[in-house]
Amino acid sequence: MLKAAFPGSFDPPTLGHLNIIQRAAGIFDELLVVVAENRQKKYLFSAEERVEMIRQLTADQGNVSVAICDSLIVDFLQQQGIKLLIRGMRGMDDFSYEFEVSMMYKALDPAIETIFLTTDPQYIVLRSSSIKEIASFRGNISEMVPPLVAAALREKYPPT
Ligand code: ADP
Repeated sequence: MLKAAFPGSFDPPTLGHLNIIQRAAGIFDELLVVVAENRQKKYLFSAEERVEMIRQLTADQGNVSVAICDSLIVDFLQQQGIKLLIRGMRGMDDFSYEFEVSMMYKALDPAIETIFLTTDPQYIVLRSSSIKEIASFRGNISEMVPPLVAAALREKYPPT
């Protein structure tokens, strides 16, 4: 039974995240999407809102579940008995950051293996922070996020 976790901020979830979720769910028996709740970070969507969006977006994928983590991800994975961690990779910038983070995880728990899935090319420029910025200027983000996320962003940034 191969169980993997895909941690991230998902503030908000994008088509790029969903692509990684779908592909990872096709490889592993079970996938736990882990929504980070880091008190030092400022999020646009609450952890509950992010979880609810991901739940709805993955409702047809029986082997995908969603949880909130407000502690060290390594400790959380130990509690859950998960040793495989999935991260998405858009390019070299992601690589240098993700490589360092994976080394940090190894230092904290050598049993954890980080597995990288490279993005499908059509999602390479999708980034939650850019999407929030475009949405804040009421730009069109309908090709970047699923309709329910676009609607949630419109609620946060109502038309002026
Ligand atoms: P974090 O704040 O932990 O980086 P994100 O929500 O930004 O969380 O991203 C979570 C994971 O999803 C990261 O591994 C990131 O590289 C990956 N990811 C984000 N956007 C994309 C995308 N467009 N294609 C592939 N992977 C992505």
